[in-house]
Amino acid sequence: MNIVVLNETDASEARVALMPDSVKKLIAAKASVTIESGAGLGAARTDDQYSEVGAAIAHDRNQLLSSADVLVCVSRPAEEDFRAMKKGAVVLGFLRPLDEPAKLTPALEHGLTTFSMELVPRITRAQAMDALSSMATVAGYKAVLLGADHIPRMFPLLMTAAGTVPPARVLVLGAGVAGLQAIATARRLGAVVEAYDVRAAAGEQVRSLGGTFLEVDLGGIQTEDKGGYAVELSEEALQRGRNLIAEHAKAADVIITTAQVPGRRAPLLMDEAAVAGMKRGSIVIDLSGATGGNVRGSRPDETFERDGVQIIAPTNLPATVPVHASQLYSRNVTAFLNLLIKDGELHLDMNDDVVGPSCVTHEGSWMNQRVVEALKAIT
Ligand code: NAD
Repeated sequence: MNIVVLNETDASEARVALMPDSVKKLIAAKASVTIESGAGLGAARTDDQYSEVGAAIAHDRNQLLSSADVLVCVSRPAEEDFRAMKKGAVVLGFLRPLDEPAKLTPALEHGLTTFSMELVPRITRAQAMDALSSMATVAGYKAVLLGADHIPRMFPLLMTAAGTVPPARVLVLGAGVAGLQAIATARRLGAVVEAYDVRAAAGEQVRSLGGTFLEVDLGGIQTEDKGGYAVELSEEALQRGRNLIAEHAKAADVIITTAQVPGRRAPLLMDEAAVAGMKRGSIVIDLSGATGGNVRGSRPDETFERDGVQIIAPTNLPATVPVHASQLYSRNVTAFLNLLIKDGELHLDMNDDVVGPSCVTHEGSWMNQRVVEALKAIT
């Protein structure tokens, strides 16, 4: 069973799907691993480091594609890459099956078995494979550093002979995995942190990290589903949240927004008036840019200024911390691959409660109901 890792094709992508320590584990599980020359360099891993743990290094991308039993990637491969693979081969990575399902049609038509890290169920058994949480952790951390780097003031409270410097104020919207990491990081830097989320359970977590949880009366409506995820709110409930946020935005130096509703457009949490009410020199970092944004007018991967406030919506912060983002991702995909390997051979058990739900295409069929619905929605 030949597991292949290629150079990622997106110029801004510095992560690599497998780091050498994971390659070592896969080889111990009797798989063979071939790395395209230079694939690890963005994450500070050389060809020699891969060779030392037993990987083969190759230069011919097409030959690598055609010889792969399993292609492990960070981002979805291009259509021509799918077509260069052999029928029945496996592709594993962030394939964006819910927001861009049609881009996987070539993989379906070509008879590939595709597994998407976005679909790995968040059950206890699959915690080690939860790449969404790993990347959200990195993004939440890095967003705070971006904010701290941008604002014209320091984060911590300082008492000096020249007077007292008050701490920066950070407002975090959405206290899931990314938001909680942002709160923890901002607190470590000494900021005063407030956070808002529609899930009541988030309150305790925010407070345990030293943040203040902002509460609003949403009229006793249900805000989360059975799985603990936020549900889409009515416009009236959203507006109540927006009013509270606009009030607290006035004092904030950095606002980090992370709110998401699985499978839906990101909820709008700040309109133009809320941004206009902020102090000059402050910054809004919208981490939901890829799904429509939490801030009206934020544009994915663009920075602009409105009323003296910078608004940025970086869509791939994990790639800016490539060593640790790759390390976490690599461990997540390796844990998943271990479910597919038996005695060094590929063994696909679609009845497995992690493998089955993570599969997008197999033997020419769409395998996931949510993906089928996403496809229907665009046709
Ligand atoms: P997410 O990325 O889907 O959403 C981020 C946050 O946005 C969530 O906390 C959500 O409640 C919040 N949000 C949605 N609509 C909002 C609105 N209108 N206003 C304010 N906030 C809004 O979520 P996530 O970070 O992936 O995690 C969500 C939940 O899943 C958390 O309870 C987390 O602990 C849980 N989780 C469980 C596991 C596991 O069991 N393996 C793994 C990861 C996360």
